[in-house]
Amino acid sequence: MRILIANGTVVNADGATQADVLVDGESIAAVGRGLQGSDLAARVDRTVDAAGKYVIPGAIDVHTHMELPFGGTFAKDTFETGTRAAAFGGTTTIIDFAVQSRGASLREGLDTWMAKAEGNACVDYGFHMIMSDVNDSTLAEMDSLVSEGVTDFKLFTAYPGVFFSDDGAIFRAMQRTEKNGGLIMMHAENGLAIDIVAADLVAAGKTDPYYHGVARYPVFEGEATNRVIRLAEAAGVPVYIVHLSARDALNEVRAARDRGAMAFAETCPQYLFLSLDDLGGGFNGAKFVCSPPLRPADHQADLWQGLVKDDLQVVSTDHCPFDFETQKQLGVGDFRKIPNGLPGVEDRVDLLHDGGVVGGRLTKERWVELLSAGPARMFGLAGVKGVVAPGADADVVVYDPARRHTISAKTHHMDVDYSCYEGREVTGGSDVVLSRGRVIVENGEWKGEKGWGRFLKRKTAREFLT
Ligand SMILES: [Zn+2]
Repeated sequence: MRILIANGTVVNADGATQADVLVDGESIAAVGRGLQGSDLAARVDRTVDAAGKYVIPGAIDVHTHMELPFGGTFAKDTFETGTRAAAFGGTTTIIDFAVQSRGASLREGLDTWMAKAEGNACVDYGFHMIMSDVNDSTLAEMDSLVSEGVTDFKLFTAYPGVFFSDDGAIFRAMQRTEKNGGLIMMHAENGLAIDIVAADLVAAGKTDPYYHGVARYPVFEGEATNRVIRLAEAAGVPVYIVHLSARDALNEVRAARDRGAMAFAETCPQYLFLSLDDLGGGFNGAKFVCSPPLRPADHQADLWQGLVKDDLQVVSTDHCPFDFETQKQLGVGDFRKIPNGLPGVEDRVDLLHDGGVVGGRLTKERWVELLSAGPARMFGLAGVKGVVAPGADADVVVYDPARRHTISAKTHHMDVDYSCYEGREVTGGSDVVLSRGRVIVENGEWKGEKGWGRFLKRKTAREFLT
């Protein structure tokens, strides 16, 4: 199949240009002016007119949790429904988190998640590995996972008794990546301190979802962020802070980068567009419970500035949806029992376009950098994903920067009964979405296929970062 995407504005992280894009099979064959009618473009099976549209690399969401077990239930989207929703929103690659259960091997966790995704995912996918135990045997397993394309490992300073690792464990894992080239990703909040504040609040009768946001002080995120960056500096390795939410943590990342530390971080749309106020309103606030929590609204301007100044390199979603009417109800009477997570995999590209590009905060090139090119470089997919260029996978989105639409649970494709952005009007939408040369979404219609997505064996970030 040869497809010519004609007359659009190709937007890459390093510039935008009027050009046609020729897709041949699963790859991009050529990008240039006047391809239409040229020898190269002869015998195309189909021409897509992109006049007035952007032609962008399919977005990459490096932080999703399809079917994640949490607090006695499972995140609602499967690899099928979650990746289909992602595609509707212009995202053609996800990197999800496989989980090592305490006492089990990394391999068992990875095999379990591979089995969930294989034959189900509608777009390409990779895995990070969540390490619950750091010991001689899991450390040795890290090396083999890196060589198999699972090149990064997430540890937590939060969730004592579940995912929590102490400083020694974190430092040992970091030392190992100094040898095997992997990358440590950190959920950085001081979970031990948070649990004390949370218990005090519940004992005082403050059990509403709002107090989830109150208990997890911004300074607890700032403290843990500084601590793990310092440990990474001591080990001589890069570190990547996931879902950075607070000014306190951003200040630590900026200071680290200013002194030359290899500190990297992502934020998520919920921290840019939602705030602690959303956690109010009685139990309705449970819809907005995630960790780190939504912050007071005055943190948002700092995060936007972090995106502009490259103290934040990636925007991902932390997509982890739970139905409000059933699953979130587990936390009635005790905010600590509300499953943590929000839906968002479908909305990220449009929200960032609307609030960033239309809102005058980001150039369209920076928008592509934060959603595609940056994630590709950070997570070992550069040259394959995240760029519209000859030789790259033909994950391409024809994006209408002028289309207005309203986000709603009634029309979204995520398998969850509410939207955090219900009723919000945004400008920008994905018209045609290609995954490895195949049209999978066209003008709101699903043309893809369950099982089309392939596992991505990723390189180590090290060769791109240093
Ligand atoms: Zn997460």
